[in-house]
Amino acid sequence: MDFIIIDGSYLEGGGQIVRTAVSLSALTQKPIKIINIRKKRKNRGLAHQHVSAVKAVKKLCNAEVYGLKVGSEELTFIPSKLSPKDFTIDIGTAGSISLVIQALLPLSLGIDKKFTVKIKGGTDVKRAPPIDYIKNVTLKILRDFGVLTELKVLKRGFYPEGGGEVIFEVKPSKVKKFDLIEHSKSDLVGGISYVQNLDENIARRMRKRAVNLLNKRGLMPNIKIECSKGISTGAGIVLWNDTLGGSCLGEKGLRAEIVAERAVDELLNARKSGMALDKYMGDQIIPFLAFGKGVVGVSEITNHTKTNIWVVKHFLDVDFEIREYRENNCNGFT
Ligand code: ATP
Repeated sequence: MDFIIIDGSYLEGGGQIVRTAVSLSALTQKPIKIINIRKKRKNRGLAHQHVSAVKAVKKLCNAEVYGLKVGSEELTFIPSKLSPKDFTIDIGTAGSISLVIQALLPLSLGIDKKFTVKIKGGTDVKRAPPIDYIKNVTLKILRDFGVLTELKVLKRGFYPEGGGEVIFEVKPSKVKKFDLIEHSKSDLVGGISYVQNLDENIARRMRKRAVNLLNKRGLMPNIKIECSKGISTGAGIVLWNDTLGGSCLGEKGLRAEIVAERAVDELLNARKSGMALDKYMGDQIIPFLAFGKGVVGVSEITNHTKTNIWVVKHFLDVDFEIREYRENNCNGFT
């Protein structure tokens, strides 16, 4: 059997290499071996979140898989035909639900009937998209370009206990050609300021600070407050301005106002670029851009983006061109 060999330590060298590679392996029916998985990270090898993502993709294509356990630095994935089915996946920790969704998303382009997955784990954890970013930025943009999904958040889950729960439905989709370069310049900012097992006043303070800062910039925020109870405790704020997002997770000792300021800064920095996509969507869009072709504008080219392009090119005969966009030093790629 001919395997595509992927070096998991390349450039960014993180878990995203695993997610994109396994997902595209299932989609293109090409067997893969990933070596040196997350070699540059302190906790090398697969973490719970990655194992869960691979298990979910495995289930949908009845793959033969070797090396699928926490800590594994090598993974062999031999896919069979995609066969959509409904199932539950429990990450078992506060591992990111959003990143399991990231691995499942490209399968929308290869299935012939819909599937629904219940995913349990963390909805709002560090270094991963908050679930409200996935819902209001990632999935919204992808839906506009033909990728059909529905996401329902049933419970929030924070580090370390998790306990979050979502229902994610994926329908057979065909991605359209991208022409998404400049931001729409919409003044409307949507958002959610949330707490779990904490005083509602924290959510109100985050919202108040965010509204003040956004109003000063002439923007029109509409930020919801959410107050929930669960087995884990946390807070955060997620903002979106058409195709751009900005967020910050609360931390013990970090004032609510600072959390809001960080989220607003992230959003405004992306907006300043004039480009349609922020740096996070910049890497998340790559597999879809490879299938849909076209051009997108991003506020920043990150190592995540470059690495994802590199992974995609193992599977598909596509070229990406990265170039500066006109006068404002931003980037577009095809
Ligand atoms: P590792 O632990 O090895 O870093 P990982 O599996 O946690 O691996 P990465 O490879 O770093 O993940 O990929 C993280 C993904 O989450 C990327 O797609 C990145 O764009 C996205 N992401 C991280 N933080 C945010 C955020 N604040 N908002 C939106 N997306 C985010």
